[in-house]
Amino acid sequence: MDLKAHIRGIADFPKPGILFYDISTLLAHAAAWRAAVSRLAALIRPYEPELLAGIESRGFLVAAPLALELGLGFVMLRKPRKLPGETIGLDYALEYGSDRIEMQADAVAAGKRVVLLDDLLATGGTMAAGVSLLRQAGAVVPATAALIELSFLGGRQRLDTPFESLVAYE
Ligand code: 5GP
Repeated sequence: MDLKAHIRGIADFPKPGILFYDISTLLAHAAAWRAAVSRLAALIRPYEPELLAGIESRGFLVAAPLALELGLGFVMLRKPRKLPGETIGLDYALEYGSDRIEMQADAVAAGKRVVLLDDLLATGGTMAAGVSLLRQAGAVVPATAALIELSFLGGRQRLDTPFESLVAYE
């Protein structure tokens, strides 16, 4: 199964000059999506996660089926003020401005091995922030992973965890 054949590049989204990799067509194709989830599960299994985490919102689409596939639970890292109860958060810098992610304070027991997932790694800023937040919550992060990696942006060099992806664009 050629996963790249099921991922569309859409020019000038969300801003002029940006080529956006759209996973809608991959999600909509049952066999391709099945293959993607199985392959990502095989890449992640050796890191022996006890829990998965996904970054809002497309990271949830990856983390939820993978958690079922691996027989694990999963935790949501969300945009500000979305989660009920006590939360912890982390502000991180973007190219222009800043953003914040949050998680529930009691979502991860201390020392749990949590693999963090997103749909795509670009500069790595979002994933690096997610790793820091999980560590703040007491997690051990043995690896991070995404369906797609924009390797020309060097995102994986920004991470201090092993990183796995299924599809890379150079
Ligand atoms: P980074 O923080 O690595 O620069 O950006 C990664 C985040 O932006 C991910 O959460 C991802 O969902 C989103 N993102 C950036 N570019 C793209 C893209 O081309 N396609 C998709 N699907 N997501 C993108």
